[in-house]
Amino acid sequence: MPPTTIQNGVVVSLEYTLTLDDGEVVDEATADDPLEYLHGADNIIPGLEKALTGLKIGDRKQVVIQPEEGYGEYDPEDMEEVERSLFPDDLELEEGMMLTMSDENDNLFDAVVVDYDDEIVTLDFNHPLAGETLHFTVRVLALRDATEEEKLHGHPHNADADHV
Ligand code: ZN
Repeated sequence: MPPTTIQNGVVVSLEYTLTLDDGEVVDEATADDPLEYLHGADNIIPGLEKALTGLKIGDRKQVVIQPEEGYGEYDPEDMEEVERSLFPDDLELEEGMMLTMSDENDNLFDAVVVDYDDEIVTLDFNHPLAGETLHFTVRVLALRDATEEEKLHGHPHNADADHV
């Protein structure tokens, strides 16, 4: 029997639209290209996971999520000044451009360039949606039980997805 409600260990397919307070649409997934995630495995932000628990296929829901249950509060301290010489010479910097940085342990972090000159580049490591109240409109498209391997990995496996 396939699962009928969203609970831990279920792979959920969702259609959703994410808008901010001012109505700007910042993200969406359509029925043709839905979001698939493993419920209970921290694949999505905590506020959304909580709001989806118990929904059934076909259910629609509107959810408002505060920053602390979303991408966190904006932290003005989460900035770093990096020497321009650490970047490739041919990299054309631009304010607002997104870079992926790695630390000495090869952990990857997204950062936004907020300022730069010939010597110093100032990077903002906050999530682009930090501090935002998130307005989700969701519709549940499909549910299935996760395989043992998916549960072990903590994420769904799609037939067409590259997998490491
Ligand atoms: Zn995997």
